[in-house]
Amino acid sequence: MATTTPNGCRRDGIDRRTHGRQWTPEVGWHSWEQPTQDQIKERMRARRPDTEEETR
Ligand SMILES: [Zn+2]
Repeated sequence: MATTTPNGCRRDGIDRRTHGRQWTPEVGWHSWEQPTQDQIKERMRARRPDTEEETR
């Protein structure tokens, strides 16, 4: 998992446009799958480690 986009595949985080068919140990060959809302939130949060709690 090199680059993760918030809306990447729920299995491997690959962007829909570049996904095509991918293989993972968990599910084998698959096409892009809609990520869950939690996954999207987590990815957006991971992108910006210095949000929230910046006020002192
Ligand atoms: Zn995938």
